[in-house]
Amino acid sequence: MNRKIILIAAVLLAAGCAAQSAPTAPPSPSAPFTIGPDTDFPHIDLGEGLYLRQIHTDVFVVTHAFPWPANSLIVEMENNDLVLAGTPYTPEAMQIVLDWIAEHFGKRNITAFDPGYHVDNLGGNSALLAAGIPVYGSDLSVRMLAERGEETRQMLLEMLLGPSNDRYRMTHAEIPYAAPDHVFPAKEGLTLTFGEEQVEVYWPGPTQAPDKMAVFFPGKMVLFGSCMVLGGNATGNVREADMENWPKAIEMLKQLGAEMVVPGHGDRLDPGLLNHTIDILTTA
Ligand SMILES: [Zn+2]
Repeated sequence: MNRKIILIAAVLLAAGCAAQSAPTAPPSPSAPFTIGPDTDFPHIDLGEGLYLRQIHTDVFVVTHAFPWPANSLIVEMENNDLVLAGTPYTPEAMQIVLDWIAEHFGKRNITAFDPGYHVDNLGGNSALLAAGIPVYGSDLSVRMLAERGEETRQMLLEMLLGPSNDRYRMTHAEIPYAAPDHVFPAKEGLTLTFGEEQVEVYWPGPTQAPDKMAVFFPGKMVLFGSCMVLGGNATGNVREADMENWPKAIEMLKQLGAEMVVPGHGDRLDPGLLNHTIDILTTA
């Protein structure tokens, strides 16, 4: 039984449908890596508030603090293509990352996924689209961006009142909220193949926001949980959260057996983040 079927079975189970048998243990990743504190990973500084951490031979976490630190991923696939999961907050920061990619990897095919409609998930889209990079996102994210995008911008601008945030506020007022140009149904998720390796995108129902997606790299056993996985010790922005389904969704993600889990925000990267998230949600 492959992981996608397992997760679909888990979703059906949660929905009250017939249960499938228990999942088998996932295969080990081909390239070994060590799990340690944030400082154990090589850092690459790309400018003010923007840096990379190499957490695996082929995986870099991009962190952009603008002003709140948010994570996205660069993953090198088996066929040399690159996959991006999430973007920095701004097209400018996205362009700096694309320039670093060109310098570090040379010319590569790049595919991007938006894990949600919030600006910390897709604020870099306009730079990706201008570079001709296909950007995948769900129908749910496209709809929510159209319906609520500007409302979330106004809320964010209100959080940035005060002279010390002038620079952030002025930039956030102008960031184009560009939609993904390759749209798939959230309910069906998405699997793309790169040589022998796949990327699996899951929507386990509403979590921190109605549309957050998780992106799994089975060849590396790395899960990008986006904002549905909590890296800190608080729930953060829960204005749009589904507090009932969210912990169930994280239980489903546990079935993937990821050996590294990248949260939307925060430095921790170990799979214990999934139970950590459930603990925070069930005591909140
Ligand atoms: Zn977030």
